[in-house]
Amino acid sequence: MADHLGCHGCNYNNVIIAPIPPERKPGRYHPRQMRLEAVWGDVTTEAVDAVVNAANPSLLGGGGVDGALHRAAGPELLVACRALAGCSTGDAKATPGFGLPARWVIHTVGPVWQGGDSGEAVLLASCYRRSLEVAGDLEAASIAFPAISTGVYGYPADEAATIAVDTIRSSITSVEVVRLVAFDERTRRLYEARLA
Ligand code: ADP
Repeated sequence: MADHLGCHGCNYNNVIIAPIPPERKPGRYHPRQMRLEAVWGDVTTEAVDAVVNAANPSLLGGGGVDGALHRAAGPELLVACRALAGCSTGDAKATPGFGLPARWVIHTVGPVWQGGDSGEAVLLASCYRRSLEVAGDLEAASIAFPAISTGVYGYPADEAATIAVDTIRSSITSVEVVRLVAFDERTRRLYEARLA
């Protein structure tokens, strides 16, 4: 994990220590504790091992988090994304971080909100779970998530925050530090309420 984590002005008010369940998954699990924290910030500046991108299925760039990460990482990120040949909703795939402080970008595709009866919750939970699995495969010790699907994809922010926190807390992972990065004050308050 980057040793300068915590030195760039983010808020550490809400930190919980979640015990990792006892089952063991080779390559993905080591008997340590995970720290889950909510911060107000920008994923492009997160000094973690892996940042998560709220991508679209083409993985060829977009607006919001995706556009910001591509701008900050540089043009090599798009070349690496092309080689991945897209990604299904709920799945996650990794590239290097290139010009980002993070070593890796884990691209996950959240569901488009369609009213809640189209499997959106299961797919959004899968984004968090699969991203943690991919991070484990990369031996990443720290990961930062944006609020997947809550921008252009229209997922209600309060329900998305519940899914993010519940899914991360219940995941079996070797990742030691998970940061939920809120881009706005309202989202940060939603995370803080769930971590309290
Ligand atoms: P999606 O298409 O999955 O909805 P968006 O990128 O449109 O993805 O937005 C997802 C969330 O990320 C929104 O809550 C948005 O405010 C937030 N966001 C946008 N840019 C950043 C950033 N640089 N860092 C962290 N969060 C961001």
